[in-house]
Amino acid sequence: MGVRKHYQYQDVIGIKVGRINQGINTNFIVYRMGDTVIDSGPSNQWKYVKSFLDESKVSQLLLTHHHEDHSGNAHYISKAYGIIPKAPKLAQTKLKAGYKTPVLQKFVWGSLVPVETQALNDKEYLADGSIIIPIHTPGHAKDLTCFFLPEKKYFFSGDLYIAPKLKMLRSDENLEQILKSINKVLTLDFNVLFCPHGGVIKDGKAALKAKKDNILNLADQAQEYHKAGMGFKEISLKLLGEEDFVSKLTGGNFCKANLIKECLPLDLESLK
Ligand SMILES: [Zn+2]
Repeated sequence: MGVRKHYQYQDVIGIKVGRINQGINTNFIVYRMGDTVIDSGPSNQWKYVKSFLDESKVSQLLLTHHHEDHSGNAHYISKAYGIIPKAPKLAQTKLKAGYKTPVLQKFVWGSLVPVETQALNDKEYLADGSIIIPIHTPGHAKDLTCFFLPEKKYFFSGDLYIAPKLKMLRSDENLEQILKSINKVLTLDFNVLFCPHGGVIKDGKAALKAKKDNILNLADQAQEYHKAGMGFKEISLKLLGEEDFVSKLTGGNFCKANLIKECLPLDLESLK
């Protein structure tokens, strides 16, 4: 399908690509600031990503985590521009070996092409000398690492934000860790949030805080129903409705019930 949208915010430009157009979960935005690229986009969109990157020099690729929509083209970028991508330490083994992509994800994004990386340093730099601080934010994935640019007050959120409300969870996601990671990020001084699925959010900190509050409210309601004797599937139906096709296509790996299950043991007071 090719390029769906172009983005520009100050010195950041981006393109939205995706094989199918079914909303935020099937689109991906590759961002760049000068010669630094944040995440590589999915491998089935390489043709479009390459023509975007070919517009000017590429010297650095920073990856947020190993998922195929973020890292799929890292190998191609490495070869095309003669660079070694930088990735979170926890992502490096999977990036090098590759992994079996689940069927739905393979259809939407293609697979990760295995790639040799170097570990992110505590501080990275843009060509203009400004600092990029990698922030480890596990929960969505163990290796998820976002990028904070204190001088510009930018925050590249990897898959920490995605959308205002969380509606489903993958079975390997940890909701308590997601909330702790959001709390950690809310202590940082940033304005604009660059989300690879949701786009550029100017009041990014407020949006992230609202997302956290939505999750806490959902968890609070779920816990009330649980105290009244309802099971997690029944609560999920009541609060989030029937499971949709994604749940069936992923064999329940990505579904609403996973989210409710993770809500029940949370200590909500400590996560506020
Ligand atoms: Zn991800």
